[in-house]
Amino acid sequence: MKAILPFALAAMLFPAELSAATIADGVKADMPALMTLYRDLHANPELSMQEVRSPAKLAAEARKLGFTVTEKVGKTGVVAVMKNGPGPALLLRADMDALPVVEQTGLPFASKVRATARSGVETGVMHACGHDTHMTSWLGTARRLSAMRDQWSGTLVMILQPGEETGEGAKAMLDDGLYTRFPKPDVVLAFHDAAALPAGVIGVTPGYALANVDSVDISVKGVGGHGAYPQTTKDPIVLASRIVTTLQTLVSRENDPANPAVVTVGSFQSGAKHNIISDEAKLQLTVRSYTPEVRKLLLDGIRRIVRGEAIAAGMPEDKMPVVTIRDAEYTPSTFNTEKLSARALELFTANFGADRVMKTPAVMGGEDFSRFWLADKKIESLIFWVGGAPIDKWKAAGGDQAKLPSLHSPFWAPDAEAVISTATEALTLASLDILKKS
Ligand SMILES: [Zn+2]
Ligand SMILES: [Zn+2]
Repeated sequence: MKAILPFALAAMLFPAELSAATIADGVKADMPALMTLYRDLHANPELSMQEVRSPAKLAAEARKLGFTVTEKVGKTGVVAVMKNGPGPALLLRADMDALPVVEQTGLPFASKVRATARSGVETGVMHACGHDTHMTSWLGTARRLSAMRDQWSGTLVMILQPGEETGEGAKAMLDDGLYTRFPKPDVVLAFHDAAALPAGVIGVTPGYALANVDSVDISVKGVGGHGAYPQTTKDPIVLASRIVTTLQTLVSRENDPANPAVVTVGSFQSGAKHNIISDEAKLQLTVRSYTPEVRKLLLDGIRRIVRGEAIAAGMPEDKMPVVTIRDAEYTPSTFNTEKLSARALELFTANFGADRVMKTPAVMGGEDFSRFWLADKKIESLIFWVGGAPIDKWKAAGGDQAKLPSLHSPFWAPDAEAVISTATEALTLASLDILKKS
């Protein structure tokens, strides 16, 4: 890490009401152009690792601003670097991918794009996670920081990441030399739009913020036969049902209740007809935790319970269930470092007011932003939330999230203007603080 990071100077006054006013004015003047870009990105969504149009468009804009831009990093990622004197290196990340969802927002610029998902299913494509607001704010921030070059010193590394939804994009960029071919960051920063916060409200979660996400497949073998003669079979549906039930005790009886954990069986498939006992049942699980210790307890526990139940059912050794932990789809938990989280809370509260900034609880969703910190834990790291739920809808629902569309919903239509203006201002403010001139 470089000698003195700016937030170590937290006691110093933020050098400028002046700067904050300049940022807000600059963002306001840029909003019509940013909203035009947003509507264009929203109408032209691209699936994970197939991002072509969005990165090309934004890379061209970053070049115009004076960034040195490299495309196709980690397949379709973009790295835009601006070296501006001595000081720390700051990485700002936006993700680019959309989801295989048929948009139902009814917006005039709603996506009509169709594509073939990896499953082979033809589907609509939609920015249902709001990554279009991330890309737009990324460019808004690049414009502000380029215009305010005389007010900061250091190295800015702005990246556009592919494939967040499939958990592979951050890894792809790191594997392609993000920290070796380009300046290695001292600080990494990003935001995500939030359906659980009213529009324009910022949420910061110090410490663990998002979960370890593991996908697990279990193939439960049986001995098939006629449904009328169960004594001649080993019924995999009964065995798999016992497995599902016993798995519930991992969280309720084995895990420390103070450590959050989730084991969800999301799919249970077996059999084809009333009177046939199948010879296999297939289970698909999502397994979530924050710490490596709880993750290990859950994954080891799943293997043990599956084998134990099969033995109890009298399955022979050559017909033990097969547990597959899908390592390629693993997303590690996201940790917001304490010092940067505290500084961001302080800085955002001073700028936006206490009614627009709050500490938010951790959630069990996953984000591969985690990998930028895990690659070197000396890095300071933060991903914060910017609320997108339109205020009128939020009030009508009495703030009850269950009555409002969530992220990934075909109805998710954030107040994009509030998200983009708030995020651009917050990212610019934090960047100027981190890259403060000494
Ligand atoms: Zn998502
Ligand atoms: Zn997302």
